[in-house]
Amino acid sequence: MTSIDVLMALLDTRAVDPWPELLYEVGDLKRIAGHSARSHPTISDLRPVRRLRDELAPAVLGRDLAKGRRILDELARKHAITPALGDGGGLHFRSATDGFAGELAAVLVLAAMELYATGLIERVCECSAPGCVTSFVDSSRKRNRTFCSAACGTRMRVRRYRERQ
Ligand SMILES: [Zn+2]
Repeated sequence: MTSIDVLMALLDTRAVDPWPELLYEVGDLKRIAGHSARSHPTISDLRPVRRLRDELAPAVLGRDLAKGRRILDELARKHAITPALGDGGGLHFRSATDGFAGELAAVLVLAAMELYATGLIERVCECSAPGCVTSFVDSSRKRNRTFCSAACGTRMRVRRYRERQ
């Protein structure tokens, strides 16, 4: 998974009517973002990660890109995200906040900025399957992806097939 995949998976845990909050346990954090940080998530990381997610959501999923840019610049300042070379591990970004939530903030704010810098932000779409509220980045060459996953695509194909019977 790229850091953009992690960002989109985390945004997908938001409570979106009629679906409830999906980021409940440390296990959820591990599953979604465990490999994005060197620290291990703990129960005290849940709240700051949810807050970060909710701050990132309007920048990534909103249609106002000027506002999105301001949100991301502000988040980078707030977390004091700086480049670092560390001990020969290559270029990475650090936030002033320690621990898993802090490391994740650096990774995800950068991922969201990358969407803007590469123009992929224009290709963030919401799944067209009824009842699905998952957003995804359409990186297909033809820019015609309509479903978030093969599962949603199959579900819709089965439905269309049945309607024709
Ligand atoms: Zn879907």
